[in-house]
Amino acid sequence: AGKNDGKGQYRFFDPALSNTLSSRARLKQHMLEALERDQFMLFYQPRVDARSGELLSMEALIRWRHPELGLVSPGEFIPLAESTGLIVRIGEVVIDKACAQLAAWRAAGVALVPVSINVSPKQFLHGGVVRQLSAALSKYRVPASLIEVEITESAMMGDQDDILAELASLRALGVKLHVDDFGTGYSSLSQLQRLKMDVLKVDRAFTMELGNSKEGKVFFQAIVSMAHALGMSVVAEGVETAEQLAILQGLDCNEVQGYYIARPVPAGEMMGMMRRRFLLERAPQQPCLGELT
Ligand code: C2E
Ligand code: MG
Ligand code: MG
Ligand code: MG
Repeated sequence: AGKNDGKGQYRFFDPALSNTLSSRARLKQHMLEALERDQFMLFYQPRVDARSGELLSMEALIRWRHPELGLVSPGEFIPLAESTGLIVRIGEVVIDKACAQLAAWRAAGVALVPVSINVSPKQFLHGGVVRQLSAALSKYRVPASLIEVEITESAMMGDQDDILAELASLRALGVKLHVDDFGTGYSSLSQLQRLKMDVLKVDRAFTMELGNSKEGKVFFQAIVSMAHALGMSVVAEGVETAEQLAILQGLDCNEVQGYYIARPVPAGEMMGMMRRRFLLERAPQQPCLGELT
């Protein structure tokens, strides 16, 4: 193109735009190869009882083990996977791997706790999630009670009949339903109760505010009391400090998750935590025998 090209034409050849487009196309191609080469894997992050620190469940978080880039976080590829529809195939891999891992842990003799799976709204089209999950549960002989599904608050907004129908089928299977990143969307608690959601996972942004302002605490307290009044349980996401944990215990928040308790880890490390079971340091209830003498 010559220097005299008009602005309209320049915009058409905008190098930034064409780079973005070609890298999107490249990234999509790479994700397809990653599926074929089995480069996706799951990390696991514990969720514990806010008071006792007992391990209650763990969240499966996808990682892409890229031969050159190393571990790539979901923030780098899940949005494109969603917009291209590839999330349906990637999501099926996640479901399969989570169930396979539960079966492997069972075979290793550890006491199992449920695995919580993140699901994108696109995966719900045409009954996808229920079909994929039922298949994996029977393939690995894992009971549905060991699976929980997390769906973001924003994904549940509007009248999306296919999503509502799938949520109902999941519930009928015996799967517990969690609202992820609660507080970032615009849904009302009564709407979530109508959808029979079991658990609210309050977004990390609100946990961060706990130690900073009185309002932060008041807001969290309001969520907890309303959720409890409506029969839902509350999880605080992104707990990073002892202070945040102490405040949450005072607010009667049910469960906590975050770097303060444990970071997401590979399956092997998770097994150690499953054996330990109680993940918060606690002052001993009674003096040790050695200290009495
Ligand atoms: P999410 O489901 O809200 O998961 C929580 C994210 O916060 C995770 O990031 C986790 O590593 C991070 N996190 C946990 N505790 C702390 C903390 O104390 N401090 C901070 N700063 N961060 C913390 P990750 O693993 O990068 O995942 C990001 C998002 O990607 C997830 O948000 C979820 O929406 C999505 N995602 C992850 N795995 C999957 C998957 O298998 N399928 C789908 N559809 N989405 C997934
Ligand atoms: Mg989640
Ligand atoms: Mg979340
Ligand atoms: Mg999130």
